[in-house]
Amino acid sequence: MSEQQKPNPWDMAREQFDRAAAYVDLDPGVQDMLRHPQRELTVYFPVQMDDGSVRVFTGYRVHHNTALGPSKGGIRYHPDVTLDEVRALAMWMTWKCATVGLPYGGAKGGVVCNPKELSQKELENLTRRYATEISVLMHPEGDIPAPDVNTNPQIMAWIMDTYSMHRGFTTPAVVTGKPVEVGGSRGRLEATGRGVMVTAVEALRVLDIPVKGARVVVQGFGNVGAVAAVLLQAVGARVVAVSDSRGGIYRPDGLDAHAVWRHKRKTGSVVEFPDAEPVSNQALLELPCEVLIPAALENQITAENAPHIQARVVAEGANGPTTPEADDILADRGIFVVPDILCNAGGVIVSYFEWVQDLQYLFWSEEEINERLSARMRDSFHTVLRLAREQGVNMRMAAYIRAIDRVARAIAIRGIYP
Ligand code: NAD
Repeated sequence: MSEQQKPNPWDMAREQFDRAAAYVDLDPGVQDMLRHPQRELTVYFPVQMDDGSVRVFTGYRVHHNTALGPSKGGIRYHPDVTLDEVRALAMWMTWKCATVGLPYGGAKGGVVCNPKELSQKELENLTRRYATEISVLMHPEGDIPAPDVNTNPQIMAWIMDTYSMHRGFTTPAVVTGKPVEVGGSRGRLEATGRGVMVTAVEALRVLDIPVKGARVVVQGFGNVGAVAAVLLQAVGARVVAVSDSRGGIYRPDGLDAHAVWRHKRKTGSVVEFPDAEPVSNQALLELPCEVLIPAALENQITAENAPHIQARVVAEGANGPTTPEADDILADRGIFVVPDILCNAGGVIVSYFEWVQDLQYLFWSEEEINERLSARMRDSFHTVLRLAREQGVNMRMAAYIRAIDRVARAIAIRGIYP
């Protein structure tokens, strides 16, 4: 798909919201309010590069809504980051937090950059300066960032340290997804993938498909996709194809997800994994399987490829991987979609646990975290499923109805200031 044809994620997020708002008895003024971000910040900041030159980077931080609590959302480093993408991701965070019952609003951040072209020192300089620029919005009780595409625990540690240096004391609760050594939570790194696994298994059960032997295809073998693959393999599923930005690999008899992960760590990609056929990212989406996990970027399942998708369950590890047109096609074809705002909420759930632990300076065991995470994911899945059945809508619509209803009720109770 060419750049011009690529749907605008903000248009898509608004369309999804408008579709769902039609089912909720929403005041038109509140609907209009929720169609806009609450506030957005654009920053242009200089970074000293290793060769002594100075380069100016563009970054964003958007708060979509804070009716339910402090805003929460990751920070993405990618050359294609746009303000509209960040707006969409911030809105999806509002619905995600509300779907799984967290006391948070939605936010997102991004920097237009290619971190693969930056040295560690340049990445640190960029992160610390971006954190300084957006620190007017960040606060442990106001706006709490987290990792997203191309950002990781080390980057979160630099953000925490930068914020803490300015305040004069260590403030671990200002950001989540940190290393355990500096106030991170056990289980956070795997949380999103674990949640994807839990909801994919629940979806298979609803459809009466045995988990054992179920064929799994993963697009985007990163933090979310690789963990989901490893954990689904651990419960007996068969991972038959995976991919990353360089391409995909396919083995109908099953790949060893652990071995693929080691190969990716060693070579930087899944491609050229021994004894597997190469497959393009496009072809991979259309492979025969029981569970398809898009876990890369937006707009992967479109009106063009949706008619050819053979999966029984699409578990959306990525944010916004399915366009609204494709959604209708998948629904008509009886494909069970676990929507992003439910499926990949594991990360923000354990981020919430991390924040609670940081505020209390009291840390939980990994076992306790994984148990609480799985319980909340299963509970949210079945709440959304019940609503879907009651209202005769699909899972995405039901998740949106639940989320919008929660946010709208909070707005109504709080009132419009002044
Ligand atoms: P990541 O950077 O760890 O992994 C992304 C993977 O996708 C990489 O392997 C990359 O090579 C691959 N990729 C990039 N472009 C691709 C393409 N066109 N085709 C196939 N593969 C491609 O990022 P992540 O943290 O795993 O995030 C992946 C998705 O999950 C994003 O949509 C993100 O917003 C969403 N998400 C992440 C979290 C989290 O906790 N990390 C939480 C919720 C949602």
